[in-house]
Amino acid sequence: MKKFTITILGSSAAIPTATRNLSAQLVAYGEQYFLFDCGEGTQMILKQLRIKINKIGHVFISHLHGDHYYGLIGLISTWHLLGRKTAIDVYGPPELQNIIEIQLNASMTTLSYPLIFHSTQSETPRLIADNGRLTVTSLPLKHRIPTTGFLINEKPLPRSIRRAETDRYGVPFIFMEKLRAGEDFVDEDGNTIPNHLLTIEPAPPRSYAYCSDTAWYEPLAKWIQGCSMLYHEATFMNDKAKSAEEKMHSTAAQAAQIASLAGVRKLLLGHFSARYDDLSLLQAEAEEFFNPVVIVEDGETYEIVN
Ligand SMILES: [Zn+2]
Repeated sequence: MKKFTITILGSSAAIPTATRNLSAQLVAYGEQYFLFDCGEGTQMILKQLRIKINKIGHVFISHLHGDHYYGLIGLISTWHLLGRKTAIDVYGPPELQNIIEIQLNASMTTLSYPLIFHSTQSETPRLIADNGRLTVTSLPLKHRIPTTGFLINEKPLPRSIRRAETDRYGVPFIFMEKLRAGEDFVDEDGNTIPNHLLTIEPAPPRSYAYCSDTAWYEPLAKWIQGCSMLYHEATFMNDKAKSAEEKMHSTAAQAAQIASLAGVRKLLLGHFSARYDDLSLLQAEAEEFFNPVVIVEDGETYEIVN
């Protein structure tokens, strides 16, 4: 089974702090890397963590508040300076394409690699990427400007063959694909050998949802139902519930209530307002509604498991 992890590159809201960069995270599925948001400072922390940036093939930008994408043009430029050849797929709000082009044109840069832009919209959940092993669905969020979250689903894995048993029952090689897909085997004498005797059940597919930034938005719970891990913004605590509402952000308690409604397995909290020194208070507030809750740290890697 491929290792499926998320590494936090930035978890501060709006402005960076001494220990937290602006929003960005790297999802790794085996050797495939996906970058979600790219706040200022993302390149530096990627370098510090010795993450090979050439393995990143897809970048997803949630929305056009600067703390979520001001690092993108720097990364695009570095790939060019390093002579990248493989294409990069960038997903984001339609205006992002112009923003990138204006910056490249101003420096008369023609990229060394193809940059394929995919426009996202934020009205309904939509399948936006499928590489055969994973799918990515955009999720509308509720924020001051059009914003999407992203849900990454592992595709169901095929059943694995019990070689000793298939030999014993004389299953021909040509039938193995059907066995992996769950079919029973009927031998020459017409005896049915149930599939479960010949194969092993695969691990259930894993999934991860990235939801930053958003106000309380209940439909989200339905779209990410049963998710293995949820990252939800928790910019404020209940003491600033009014600010959260005005700025269309969430409190730690609201994030936990969404996690609870969605029945996710684990909740990661991030996108913290720089005003909070003691984040254990946010954790305690969230734990009144959901467990387990993790206060993320920049540079930390979290494994996505069921
Ligand atoms: Zn924002």
